[in-house]
Amino acid sequence: MKVYFVGAGPGDPELLTLKAQRLLKSCKYCIYAGSLVSPDVVTECAETTKLYDSAGMTLEEMEEVFIQARDEQEDLVRLHTGDPSIYGAIREQMNSLDRLGIDYEVVPGVSSFQAAAAALSTELTAPEVSQTIILSRTSGRTPMPEKEKLEVLAQSRSTLCLFLSVHKMDEVAKNLARFYGEECPAAIVFHASWPDQQIVRGTLKDIAAKVATAAIRKTAMIVVGQALSRDIPVSKLYHRHFTHGYRQGEGQ
Ligand code: SAH
Repeated sequence: MKVYFVGAGPGDPELLTLKAQRLLKSCKYCIYAGSLVSPDVVTECAETTKLYDSAGMTLEEMEEVFIQARDEQEDLVRLHTGDPSIYGAIREQMNSLDRLGIDYEVVPGVSSFQAAAAALSTELTAPEVSQTIILSRTSGRTPMPEKEKLEVLAQSRSTLCLFLSVHKMDEVAKNLARFYGEECPAAIVFHASWPDQQIVRGTLKDIAAKVATAAIRKTAMIVVGQALSRDIPVSKLYHRHFTHGYRQGEGQ
């Protein structure tokens, strides 16, 4: 018997891994994060699967389900949105499982920052412009470590993907404009890969007003950086004069 921490992906069930789909179909127990995981993904479970929505549960209540599954020697899927390693709150559950002597395994998923990049048809990196992607958030009830405050992270002008922050779009955009410049491209993807996905594109100057008009307050990814532009230098990788380990460039 095992507990599987499974990445549910961003929403579209076709973005589940084959392994996640197999485990959902075969598990006897499934605890899913109902506030974020798409109902379309939860319905991948068998009709006989006992479902629990973690939104209304405490860690102790989850432990009771872990123990029940262990006593029956049945597998349990703990379904987390996107990839479980990012804002997944899996650490405390693993500590419980260690204490209970229950074996576990993590199955990665497509994160919402990747689904947002796909929705925007963009590369998040750009040669000579941004070779770093920062995954972060603004403070909510979880305070940010002093050295990770937005104004510190912004100094590198890397591509920024901000989780859990769209309700503070105005503050975020104003803050970032000081470092990236007001004309820097910014985009918001609400419910990436869901049937009601919404995209808002703009610059740090106007994005907050556009997001307010669209009334997007949650479950959205903020993406900021010059990498969102198309009119910046492209990679040389496929240039016909470029030689690398696998290809001899023309005229070289
Ligand atoms: N583990 C998840 C993130 C959980 S934190 C992952 O890897 O994606 C929850 C935040 O993720 C939300 O506030 C939102 O910022 C983002 N998010 C989750 N699903 C999303 C989706 N389908 N589209 C856009 N953002 C999403």
